Amino acid sequence: MVHIIIKGTKMKKLSLMIIGLGMLLASPMPAFAKVNIFACAPEWGALAKEIGGDKVDIYNASNANQDIHHMRAKPSLLAAMRKADLVICSGASLEIGWLPILLNKAGNNQVQDGGIGSIMASDYVPLLEVMQNVDRSMGHVHPEGNPHVHLDPNNIALVSKVIAERLSEIDSSHSSYYEARQSSFDENWAKAVTQWETQAANLRGANVVVYHKSWTYLLNWLGIQAVASLEPKPGIPPNASHLEKVLQDIQGKNIKGILIAPFENEKGAKWLSEKANIPIIKLPFTVGGNNQATDLKIMFDDTLNRLNNID
Ligand SMILES: [Zn+2]
Repeated sequence: MVHIIIKGTKMKKLSLMIIGLGMLLASPMPAFAKVNIFACAPEWGALAKEIGGDKVDIYNASNANQDIHHMRAKPSLLAAMRKADLVICSGASLEIGWLPILLNKAGNNQVQDGGIGSIMASDYVPLLEVMQNVDRSMGHVHPEGNPHVHLDPNNIALVSKVIAERLSEIDSSHSSYYEARQSSFDENWAKAVTQWETQAANLRGANVVVYHKSWTYLLNWLGIQAVASLEPKPGIPPNASHLEKVLQDIQGKNIKGILIAPFENEKGAKWLSEKANIPIIKLPFTVGGNNQATDLKIMFDDTLNRLNNID
């Protein structure tokens, strides 16, 4: 009796193997598909590519000319979310207007909050501007802290480690590939950071005006002060009376420039620039934010160059 059962199991195994082999030979798909990565913004897509190389397919949910605060949960994003193995976003409520809707509709368990396929960068870096007692009168504030974490390159390094760990878990057959790429990225990145810090030493203590608090991590890293915002409150566009107030506030202060991102309206910045005779510095903000910024390293190179050239 026992003998027959063993024999039966063996037969079953053998026939399953034959079916499996047949499917493998007949199938046009490669045996191991690439890891599908859904990146909320180009900086995370670019970082995932650095670590994942040719083992990953990247879908960027937004481009550098889009304001990620104001995106919508479009059907194309939902389709990408459905097939994602790993989602990489900034978190800390930055994508609150659209990401939870996508996650809810996609029915993809792996990428839900806290899942193996979910990385919210803000969870892995020291957050700035964490706020207590937030209310609606304060505008579109992010109570968990400022979510624009990618412009401190030290945060990029921290998140790169998390990406390598997750890729190794999700696609364990290539774990040594991901680990090797992460450690070589880490080594080159640390050298670049030292270079940027040397290059920016003369910017320490400088004052700038910003449009939105998009640059908090960059400025904190480089020791630059944002003395005013063109937005009266976060998420509220500049208006005439607020701009007049900014003009008064910056009198007598040595302002290096007005920082704006590709997706921010230049009108208010132009007005202030003319009135106060200070330059507008349009920074790439993310990968693809200008023609130069084709990858993360060049994006920081370009940012440092533009900050330095205004003297
Ligand atoms: Zn913001």
